[in-house]
Amino acid sequence: MSRLDRFLLYGDWCLSWPNYTQVARMRGLSDHCPLVLAANEEDWGPRPSRMLKCWRDVPGYKVFVRDKWNSFQFEGWGGFVLKEKFKGIKTALKEWHTTHTRNLPSRIEALKVPLKVSICAWRLLRDRLPTKANLVTRGILSEANHHCVSGCGEIETAQHLFLSCSTFGALWPLVSSWIGSPLVIAQTPSDHFVQFSDSAGGLRARRSFLQLIWLAVVWVVWTERNHRLFRGSGNSVHHMLDKIKTFSYRWLKATSANLALNCHSWWSSPMLCLSLV
Ligand SMILES: [Zn+2]
Repeated sequence: MSRLDRFLLYGDWCLSWPNYTQVARMRGLSDHCPLVLAANEEDWGPRPSRMLKCWRDVPGYKVFVRDKWNSFQFEGWGGFVLKEKFKGIKTALKEWHTTHTRNLPSRIEALKVPLKVSICAWRLLRDRLPTKANLVTRGILSEANHHCVSGCGEIETAQHLFLSCSTFGALWPLVSSWIGSPLVIAQTPSDHFVQFSDSAGGLRARRSFLQLIWLAVVWVVWTERNHRLFRGSGNSVHHMLDKIKTFSYRWLKATSANLALNCHSWWSSPMLCLSLV
């Protein structure tokens, strides 16, 4: 305990209030020890309210918290209102966390893919890839140059490039029919990631397989986009699908060297190949 963190004791007061306790707690974030004066003997300790720093990076987080906070209406004295609002925001954030983050970064880290691939996917899920729309927002690119490299005429946002573009988005139906999973329609890349991962049922092995494929698609789309933009050369969608098959095969093979994977059957039916059907 430092010199500052101390309390004085008065004998008469202790005799008058025998059940009162005064405790010095551990130093937490502050450089002082909190001193607690308590009237009750039962002490269940404070209930922690969690807030993850990474939430701030998720688009819409600040607006969500602000709107939710303002929407709560409680009557009473200030301290009570504040307490109830904290209680409300805690519940709301719990739900928000489930639907918006779902621990995506750790799911990606768990997959054994090259680091550059997981970084690319991580940036996409956070909308941090240097898409043209993002470069315009940051003042790096003029608005006149924000069009998708495929020539479809739309603005190149992450959502457009990876999901709705008539060229790059056309990969998803091909991938789904290759795997034998239903086509996923989602509004944002992170929703797409979650729905795609669960599209073949909840089995853990199937989910990680689909996540691996999703990462391969994202990687192939992003590198293809860069080739078209910086080298002026382009591959067909079918060629891109071949790359997805090759990369995913290679990554899986590197993860488990003793996995008896037949490249030929992988090419035609990967789920069968992994005994996932
Ligand atoms: Zn496009």
